[in-house]
Amino acid sequence: MVQAFLIKYAEIGIKGKNRYIFENALRDRVSERLMRCEGQFRVEKEQGRIYVQAESSFDYDEVMEALSHVFGIAHICPVVLVEDKTFSNVCRELVAHMKEELGEKPFTFKVFAKRSDKKYPMESPEICVEAGAYILDHMPNAKVDVHHPEVSVYVEIRHRAYVYVSGIKGPGGMPVGTSGRAMLLLSGGIDSPVAGYMMAKRGVQIEAVYFHAPPYTSERAKQKVVDLARLVSEYAGEIKLHVVNFTDIQLYIYDKCPHDELTILMRRYMMRIAETIAKERDCLSLITGESVGQVASQTMQSLAATDAVCTMPVFRPVIAFDKNEIIEIAEKINTFETSIQPFEDCCTIFVAKHPVTKPDIQKMESSEKKLMEKIDEMVEKAIAEREVIEVKPE
Ligand code: ATP
Ligand code: MG
Repeated sequence: MVQAFLIKYAEIGIKGKNRYIFENALRDRVSERLMRCEGQFRVEKEQGRIYVQAESSFDYDEVMEALSHVFGIAHICPVVLVEDKTFSNVCRELVAHMKEELGEKPFTFKVFAKRSDKKYPMESPEICVEAGAYILDHMPNAKVDVHHPEVSVYVEIRHRAYVYVSGIKGPGGMPVGTSGRAMLLLSGGIDSPVAGYMMAKRGVQIEAVYFHAPPYTSERAKQKVVDLARLVSEYAGEIKLHVVNFTDIQLYIYDKCPHDELTILMRRYMMRIAETIAKERDCLSLITGESVGQVASQTMQSLAATDAVCTMPVFRPVIAFDKNEIIEIAEKINTFETSIQPFEDCCTIFVAKHPVTKPDIQKMESSEKKLMEKIDEMVEKAIAEREVIEVKPE
């Protein structure tokens, strides 16, 4: 029976002197995630891996599902602990476990053995040969391939014996929290939740800002964004969501500026506000879900015009993705169904029939001069009166 999990990591392994920082973060993220599962677990760093030992009964599928959401994990190997480590018993348990994991399908394998109990009567090479022979005798679908085995079989003899086979692929990436913090501009669309997920995968801790425009956008539209943040938090961990009331600013721009420039001007103010909150929250960058050419506000010229108001780097992880490719990820991370719920978005309400697609930055700046009288005050008010929602995974 599986009683433990060996977690292998990939990229962390190459981190030289700082490696322990990444390992500790991964251990902590694994512990935090397992806290929400049924059962008790001990999580420890061990020789370049994380070792999870169940200390009570637990739900195997729930644990595998939980671990599949922790960035930094390359492989998850369910481990069988064998109390009676006489060799014949170890082989029996090993084959039982392999039958369960691998079924009837033909596969090639190689055995790897490690013996830290130096009093054990067999040495590692002998364990490999004998265990290999036992597998061949008991699994007609097994074949040895010492150069390119499909399945690596591990036998470790310690105070107890540990047997496991090459595990299931983890989500990859870096442990969340090892790459600093960033502010995600999160709308109710398909793209920005995917953008947030992708940055979290690289170890970035996410905060989010959502601009709503009541009464033009509803409470339900806001709830949709909270729901999306919650789905992303399944991977990214807790997300502080800043909800900014954008109505007055939007109406003011609508009133004073040419309507074909509305979208870009609005986006420039969104970026400015997001950056101010980001600085206050010690974020190092902004993240958006923009993709080149997707809409008028995402041409190269438009992106340059929104970028121009930011001093922080703006990361756009889906910039070169087709919509279909973004949707594929949205489906994988379970945000798609929520994203396509039809609720109004604050950008679409004031959108012009023929928005500029090649905005000129100088022209934008001169349009913004028309807002001089009140805009700073409005921006300050919107930031000061924002609502902050702590969104936690379920
Ligand atoms: P998405 O699917 O993410 O909504 P989109 O294709 O609808 O993107 P736009 O509406 O042009 O594209 O928005 C581009 C990006 O600007 C979004 O990905 C998001 O990062 C940000 N954004 C747009 N509207 C809002 C909003 N109301 N609140 C916060 N961020 C927003
Ligand atoms: Mg949108």
